[in-house]
Amino acid sequence: MTSPSPNPAAIDTLGKLADAEMGLVWYCDDCNRRMELTLVRAIEIWGRDQVFIRWRPPIKCGGCGSRSVNCRVQANTAIGQPTGKPFSRP
Ligand SMILES: [Zn+2]
Repeated sequence: MTSPSPNPAAIDTLGKLADAEMGLVWYCDDCNRRMELTLVRAIEIWGRDQVFIRWRPPIKCGGCGSRSVNCRVQANTAIGQPTGKPFSRP
């Protein structure tokens, strides 16, 4: 078992990001290529408890082969739309 986040209120893990209807995108620092990796897939690989803050994901850029890949939070465009799921969950 991985230990839970020390601050339950902070969105600092992949699972919490998903719960908050946020997305995560990965960019190569060297060539600025965007990885074809979704938050859902990342959770499948690394689990919901993976902390993404100051995280160096163990992936390699498909363009230049660099391992300097960083992730950034991306707002999900579904938020606020009538058909979207509610932002907060019980
Ligand atoms: Zn690259």
